[in-house]
Amino acid sequence: MRLDNPWFVMALIGVIGWFHVKLLADFLNLRRLSDSVPESLNDVVSEEDHLKAKDYHIDHARLDVLSEAAGLAALVGFWWVGGFQWLALQVQGLGWGSISSGLLILGSLVVASSLLNLPFEWYSTFKIEAAYGLNRTTPGTFVADRVKGLVMACALGGPLVAGILWVLANVQAAAFWAWALTSLFGLLMTWIAPRFLMPIFMKFTPMEPGELRDAILALARKQNFPVQEIYVVDGSRRSTKANAFFTGIGNTRRIALFDTLLATHSTDEIIAVLAHEIGHAKLGHVPWMITAGLLQSAAMFACLHFALSDVRFYEAFGVQGTLPALGLALFSIVWKPWSVVLDILHGMLSRKHEFQADEYAKVAIGTGEPLISALKKLSRDHLAHLTPHPFYILLHHSHPPVLQRIQALSA
Ligand SMILES: [Zn+2]
Repeated sequence: MRLDNPWFVMALIGVIGWFHVKLLADFLNLRRLSDSVPESLNDVVSEEDHLKAKDYHIDHARLDVLSEAAGLAALVGFWWVGGFQWLALQVQGLGWGSISSGLLILGSLVVASSLLNLPFEWYSTFKIEAAYGLNRTTPGTFVADRVKGLVMACALGGPLVAGILWVLANVQAAAFWAWALTSLFGLLMTWIAPRFLMPIFMKFTPMEPGELRDAILALARKQNFPVQEIYVVDGSRRSTKANAFFTGIGNTRRIALFDTLLATHSTDEIIAVLAHEIGHAKLGHVPWMITAGLLQSAAMFACLHFALSDVRFYEAFGVQGTLPALGLALFSIVWKPWSVVLDILHGMLSRKHEFQADEYAKVAIGTGEPLISALKKLSRDHLAHLTPHPFYILLHHSHPPVLQRIQALSA
C-alpha cells in the first residue's frame, strides 16, 4: 500500500469508486423499468414491446456489470502484482529506441484490454441483441470489423502516438504541443472519417430519385441548407436499429440515412428527423461540441503534464524511473474516472442541443407531430428504456429521454 502517495490514492479511489457509481446508476435505472407503457406512448409501443424492452435492459445491465467487474479485476490484479514494471522491463530488455518501445508498450496494453472485452462484445451481439431480434451482424462481419478496426488503429493511431511520444521527449512545454497535435489530428479526422473511413465499414449508395428524395431536397432548399448528395447506408447489415446523420461541413454536406430508417418510417417522419439534423447544423451545435472537446482535452493534457513530471506518479503504479509511454497508459487509468465530471457537463450541453434541434424541426415543419411519431417508433424499435433514472441520464445519456422530448414538442 502506498497511501502516502496522492496519485495512488486518487487512482485507487477513482477506479473502484467509478465502478460502484456506475453500479448504483444501473441499479437505480433498472428499478425504474415499469410494467405498463407510459400513456403518451401507448399508441405506438405495445405492452408486449414494453415487456420485451424490460428484459432486454436487465440482460444488458447484467452483462455490463460482469464486463466492468472483469475489467476492474484485471486492472487491479495487474497493478497489484507489479505488472506495469514487469512490462516496462520486458520491453526495455529488447533494446529498441524510445518511440518504438513506447509504441510496443501502449500497443500491448490496448490489445490486452481489447481481448478482454472481446467475449463480452461477442455475447452482447450474438446472444442478447440476437435474442431480441435486433442483431443482423454475422460472425464474419463481426471478425472483419475488428480486423479493420485494428488495422485502422495502427495506421492512424500509431503515427499520432509516435508524434506525441516524440513531443514529450524532445520539446519544451510538451503537454501544450501534444494537445495541439492531438487537436489537429482530431479536426483532420472529422474530415477524413466520413470520406474514407466510414465507407470501409458501411456501403454508401446514392438515393434513387423519387418522392422521398424530392421531399428531402425541398426541405433543404427551404431551410437554405446546401446538400451535395443523399446516401442510403446499409445499416441493416449489422443491426435493425435506425439512424440518420450528416457528414461534412460548409458546402459539401452529405446526408446519410440508414436503410433501416427508410424501412420503418414514413416520408413525413424522415423529413422531420432530417429537419432535426439540419437544426443541429444551423444552430451551430457542431462548433460548440468541437470547442467543448478541445477544452476537455486541454484539461487532460494539463493534468498529464503534472503527472508525467512527478516521479511519485510512476511509483503509485509500482514503476521505477519515468517512461513517457507507460506514463500515458497509467495516466488514462487515473483520468478516466475523474474526467466523468467533464463528461457530465458535455452530456448536459448535448441534451440541451437535442431540445433545441427538436424545436428547430417543429418550427421548420410547422408541427411537432411527425417528429413525435418518429421518436416513438425509434424508441420502440431500439427497445429504449422509456423512463430512465435521472442519475443514469446524468452519467450516460447524450439525448434526453423520449418522454421529455415528446412533452417539449407538444408544448
Ligand atoms: Zn440530435
